[in-house]
This record gives sequence, C-alpha cells and structure tokens, in this order.
Amino acid sequence: MTGSGSGSGSGAGSAASAVFCGYCGKAVGEGDHAACSSRLGVIDPPRFCSQCARRMVVQVTPAGWTATCSRHGSTASA
Ligand SMILES: [Zn+2]
Ligand SMILES: [Zn+2]
Repeated sequence: MTGSGSGSGSGAGSAASAVFCGYCGKAVGEGDHAACSSRLGVIDPPRFCSQCARRMVVQVTPAGWTATCSRHGSTASA
C-alpha cells in the first residue's frame, strides 16, 4: 500500500486570498496592517483591490458600500 501523495496539494493559491491591504494598498505580508483591518472592519470600504492593488471605485450606498476593481469586479459590504 503506497499511501503517499494524495492530499496536501497546496499549489499556488487559487487567488482566493488577499495579497494587498485593501486600506493602504501595500502588501499584506509587509508591515503591520492591524490598524487598516480594524478600519475596514468597522465601516470604511476598501480603497485598493486585495488581489492587484489597483485603486477601486468606491460607492457608498444606503446598504453599505460597493468597491469595484476594473479587473476583478466589485465587492460589496455584507
Ligand atoms: Zn494596510
Ligand atoms: Zn483587482
């Protein structure tokens, strides 16, 4: 029984994780973004796309906000 392999196929993330801070637009891995994430967690919409760091078009709606990246589409609050 060669039960090796199978599983642990961590191959280059599926673009599902954030790479850039949505608040300041810098790489998530560098610096401390505790303040950024706390701001984003309260009410502020993200200004930068978390996947490409492009500046997003933010629109505030009665229900919250919508942030649109020209490349990755829009993200809405809640
Ligand atoms: Zn940040
Ligand atoms: Zn993007």
